[in-house]
Amino acid sequence: MVTHLNSLKIIFIFMDGLGIGSDDPARNPILDSRFPFLRNILKNATPLDACLGVEGLPQSATGQATLLTGVNAAEAMGRHIEGFPPARLKKLIQDENLFFKLIQLEKQPTFANSYWTTDPHSIPPRRQSVTTVMTVSALGGVRGKTELLSGKAVMHDITRWTTHARGYDGPLVEPEDAAGHLMAVGEENDFTLFEYFLTDRAGHSAKPEQVFQCLETLERFLIKVAAFAEQPNHLLLLSSDHGNIEDNTTRTHTENPVPLVAIGKGADSFRSLTSLTEVTPAILRLYED
Ligand SMILES: [Zn+2]
Repeated sequence: MVTHLNSLKIIFIFMDGLGIGSDDPARNPILDSRFPFLRNILKNATPLDACLGVEGLPQSATGQATLLTGVNAAEAMGRHIEGFPPARLKKLIQDENLFFKLIQLEKQPTFANSYWTTDPHSIPPRRQSVTTVMTVSALGGVRGKTELLSGKAVMHDITRWTTHARGYDGPLVEPEDAAGHLMAVGEENDFTLFEYFLTDRAGHSAKPEQVFQCLETLERFLIKVAAFAEQPNHLLLLSSDHGNIEDNTTRTHTENPVPLVAIGKGADSFRSLTSLTEVTPAILRLYED
């Protein structure tokens, strides 16, 4: 498969645990004056329901599966499921994921995140996230250190700051550099997914300094990535699986709607969406047109 110069190119940034919060800056850290870009894109975002008609707080495994398959996974499983998907949910992800559906349309999707290994079989089944399951099943492999060091992958924490403790001996990068790497991957593929989950971790930590460090990295990263959407036939999407970091009065997830940010080609077609279930179908429609 070859991507054509004038064909649609999408970068989709999936952020774990980012809801649309209250207007009270004492409660919502995203309203801090240090994050004008984040505040502005969230103000203009389309709010999506993440509760999915299922009782209880929304959780990651079912929320992500819903976002990235278009199937209401919480309803299918009968409950919100946190963390890593169990076997039956994995099957749903393998059968219905967005990468698989894009390949059926003869498009070239990719997952820009760098793993520690390029051997997907070495990732323990119990530690396979929704994105790992879909990447391994639809694409057969993942990006690793070689791609990371040649600027063809992005570490999940953006600057690689969490990785030295795990034995990574390469350089740290600035958020703007990582943004450039993501955009380079975006140019080489029809659809590029990037996952950032430290928003959820920071929200659970309830530590203001961790929350602000996370938001500062994102602010710088996103300002740079936004340039991607300024080119013809380029679209930048950003969404989440459930709320968390936007409310500093709780360490748990929230029932807030999540943002769908769409900037660039076809952005208007996302304005009418109301639920996580509608994102994958709306993306597919853009490529079908
Ligand atoms: Zn969480």
